[in-house]
Amino acid sequence: MQRADDILREIFGFDCFRPGQEEIVHAVAAGENVLAIMPTGGGKSLCFQLPALLRDGVTVVISPLIALMRDQVRALQEAGVAAGALTSGNTGEENDAVFAALNEGRLKLLYMAPERLASGAAAAMLRRAGVSLIAVDEAHCVSQWGHDFRPDYLRIGELRRALRVPLAAFTATADAETRTEIVEKLFDGGTPRVFLRGFDRPNIHLAFAAKDGPRQQILRFADARRGQSGIVYCGTRAKTETLADALEVDGHNACAYHGGMEPADRRAVEDRFAREDGLIVVATVAFGMGVDKPDIRWVAHADLPKSIEAYYQEIGRAGRDGAPAETLTLFGADDIRLRRTQIDESPAAPERRAADHARLNALLGLAEALGCRRRMLLRYFGETAEPCGYCDLCDTPPETFDGTQAVRKALSAILRTGEWFGTGHLTDILTGNATEKVRARGHDALPTFGVGGEFDRRGWQAVFRQMMGHDLVRPDPERHGALRLTDAALPILRDAATIDLRRDTIRAAGRRPDTPR
Ligand code: ADP
Ligand code: ZN
Repeated sequence: MQRADDILREIFGFDCFRPGQEEIVHAVAAGENVLAIMPTGGGKSLCFQLPALLRDGVTVVISPLIALMRDQVRALQEAGVAAGALTSGNTGEENDAVFAALNEGRLKLLYMAPERLASGAAAAMLRRAGVSLIAVDEAHCVSQWGHDFRPDYLRIGELRRALRVPLAAFTATADAETRTEIVEKLFDGGTPRVFLRGFDRPNIHLAFAAKDGPRQQILRFADARRGQSGIVYCGTRAKTETLADALEVDGHNACAYHGGMEPADRRAVEDRFAREDGLIVVATVAFGMGVDKPDIRWVAHADLPKSIEAYYQEIGRAGRDGAPAETLTLFGADDIRLRRTQIDESPAAPERRAADHARLNALLGLAEALGCRRRMLLRYFGETAEPCGYCDLCDTPPETFDGTQAVRKALSAILRTGEWFGTGHLTDILTGNATEKVRARGHDALPTFGVGGEFDRRGWQAVFRQMMGHDLVRPDPERHGALRLTDAALPILRDAATIDLRRDTIRAAGRRPDTPR
C-alpha cells in the first residue's frame, strides 16, 4: 500500500514501520475488526492514527488517559492532521470548536474519554458526524477483573452496535483471560483478527562489526554462504554497482538494485531474486517493499542503516521461513557522521530532528553494545528478554576496559581546540603528530599534544567512533563536521562517570595498516 508508506513518511516523519505495525495498519485500514496486543512503547498509536487518515470519515478514539489524548491531539495537529478531543478537561470553547469541526466534516480523528459515552447522546452525535472506525486504546480497561477497570468501557460494545463500524482494540496486556474478556465485551464475542506476535525473530542471528576493510568483510561474509540467497544493503547507488561487480568477480551470482534503475530492470531483478536460488542482490533501501521471498538466508549491511527501525525491518527480510538466517551490519565513523549530517540538514522541525537523532543513537548503542544484542533490541521495542544465545556478543562476549581516561583525553583535545576540528586533526594532536596544520595553529603546544601514546591512529579513530556511538560527541554540520561535546560527555569530564570501551575494535585497529575503502 503505497499511500500508507507516504503518509508514514510525510505526516508521521518515520522512514519505516516498526515490527508488527504494517500488518495491523493494513488490517485496520481495510475495515477489519482487530485486537492488537503490543508492548508499551511499541508504537500502538500509529496503528489507528494512520488508518484513520487512509479511511473516509472520522475515527473516534476512546482512551482513558486525558493527558495522553491531549499530547496525541497536539502532535497530530502540529503534523497538519485535523484532530480534536472531547474530555472533561476541555473548556467550553474547546468543546465548541470540536463540535463545529465535527459538524462541518473537517475532523479525521476525534479522541473521546469513555465517560462521554455515558450520556447516551454520544452515539447519535457520532453517527451524524460520519464515524467510520472506532479505535480503543488500553482495551484491557474493559476487563472487570483487571485493576484498570473502567465501567464506561462497557458501553463501547453498545456504541459499535449502534454505529455498525469496524473496531480496532489495542492493549499491552497479553494474558489470555483479559483477551477473552476484551473479545466478549467489545466484539460481542465475535472474531476480531488478533495480532499477538512478539517482535522477536529468534531464527535471525544478529551481528555487527566495525568497518575494517569493509569490502573484504562483505566478500568474506558472502563467501562463507556461497549458494545461498542474500541481500547486501548499501548507503549509495554507486556502491551497489561496485560491490555487485566485486561479488561477481568472486564467483557469485550478484546484481545491483537501486531507485535510479529503469522500472523494467528493477522488476527483472525482483523476478530473478524470487525465482532463483543463491542470487545476491546488492541494493539500496529501495529494495524491499515487494520482496516476500521466504528463504532469504542472509542480509548484510555494507553501511549503517538509518535508524534502529530501518535496521530491524531490513534484517527482518531474512529467514521468513523460520529456518536459521544470518546478518552482519558494518558501521564506521563515516556512517555516523553521514547519518548525523543528514538529520541535521533535513528540513524537518527541530523536535523531529531530535527524535531522529535519538533513533540513530539507539542503533549506535546497539552497534557498540557490550551485552546481548537481541535483548537490547527487544528492550528498545518494549519487550523484555533474556540473553539470546544467538548473536555475536552471546557467541563471544566482548572484552572491555575502563576507557574513561582515554575518553577524557579525547574530550579535552576537543575542548582545547574550541570544538572546531574533526577526528583526523584531533588524532594528530593526541598522538603527537606535528603536521603542518597542527603547527600552524599552535596545537603542538597544547597540554594534550602527544598524551595519547596508548593507541595508534586507528586506535584513536575507534575511540572516537565509540564516543560517537555513545553520543558523547557529535559532528556539527555548521563547522564542517567538527566534533562537539553533548551533555552526556559532561559527567565524564567532571569525573562523575566512567565509561567502558570495547577492546577488540581498538586492538584490531592497532594491528592493521589503513585499508582503502
Ligand atoms: P505505545 O505503544 O506505548 O502507545 P506509542 O504509540 O506512544 O507507543 O509509540 C512509542 C514511540 O515510538 C513514540 O515515540 C513514537 O514516536 C515511536 N514510533 C512509533 N512508530 C514508529 C516508527 N514506525 N518509526 C519510528 N518511531 C516510531
Ligand atoms: Zn544474544
